[in-house]
Amino acid sequence: MNERQKEILFNRSVIQKRVQELADQISGDYTDGELIIVGILKGAFIFMADLIRAISIPCSVDFVRCASYGTGSESSGKIVMTKDIETSIKGRDVLIVEDIVDTGLTLKYLVGWLKERNPHSLKVCALIDKRRKRKVSFEADYVGFTVADGFLVGYGLDFNECYRFLPEIYVIKQL
Ligand code: 5GP
Repeated sequence: MNERQKEILFNRSVIQKRVQELADQISGDYTDGELIIVGILKGAFIFMADLIRAISIPCSVDFVRCASYGTGSESSGKIVMTKDIETSIKGRDVLIVEDIVDTGLTLKYLVGWLKERNPHSLKVCALIDKRRKRKVSFEADYVGFTVADGFLVGYGLDFNECYRFLPEIYVIKQL
């Protein structure tokens, strides 16, 4: 592995505390019926696993995968769905769980895609809101941490498929 210099941004206890706060907020906001949680592969898988175990309301899970056909740290901006959900969301409460909102293009596209299936409600929970490179206006309903910029890895986030396994979130010092 081509090891990069990186420094810790959020440690395990900070992440765990924030995930529990988000879960409490979400549990309080959905009081009737089952929530369908749609995770965006691959980056959100660890966050989603922790979040659903901290949520105190019944939920089911599904996944989508979106490719933007970028390499390294740059996304191409053109979003393509490479895996769709397998559950009917018509009339249901749906929460999209994403790792990072950066340009906003992925979530804007995905929200539009899922809205066409007529869910009862559709909200977004993002672990990290990275605000500096926003290209389209997009605000997540629930945000774990807000950062200005920087390329983050760990806790599910990769750089060329490395670092997903790290339990903390790091910022890469030099790409
Ligand atoms: P957006 O469409 O909002 O520009 O990009 C969202 C996707 O870009 C995220 O789901 C994530 O896969 C990727 N991304 C954006 N910033 C970072 C980052 O700092 N680290 C990693 N690992 N992925 C990022």
